[in-house]
Amino acid sequence: MRCGAGGVAAVKLTEHFNRSEMTTTQSGIENRPTLDAWINMTRLCCDVLEPLRAIVGALRVNSGYRSPEVNTAIGGANNSAHTYGRAADVVPLARDISALDVMAALDGFRLTRRSLNTAGDRRGYTSK
Ligand SMILES: [Zn+2]
Repeated sequence: MRCGAGGVAAVKLTEHFNRSEMTTTQSGIENRPTLDAWINMTRLCCDVLEPLRAIVGALRVNSGYRSPEVNTAIGGANNSAHTYGRAADVVPLARDISALDVMAALDGFRLTRRSLNTAGDRRGYTSK
């Protein structure tokens, strides 16, 4: 997978995540990321969201980057990781996400279909 390349579609951060879904806000307040935040968001998509999507299917981003003003307006935590582009709240569209799914995405392991039915049995994992 080419990650972070952007390609011809400049609106894309990675293959399955685009700029607008990572910056959309219902607050009505301008929500313009800094360059550092864009870089962080691209890494977040590459390192976490794309691997997670590969395991559980499509994800809807409910909240990605938040400017400090947006974060304050919506009652976000002080110094929230969202204000650095290092967090995204996502909802799986195909099925629920288990802790095992997240561990698999973050550990760089890929779950086989069989191993999903034997949760907790690491013999089912195949190294990526
Ligand atoms: Zn969050």
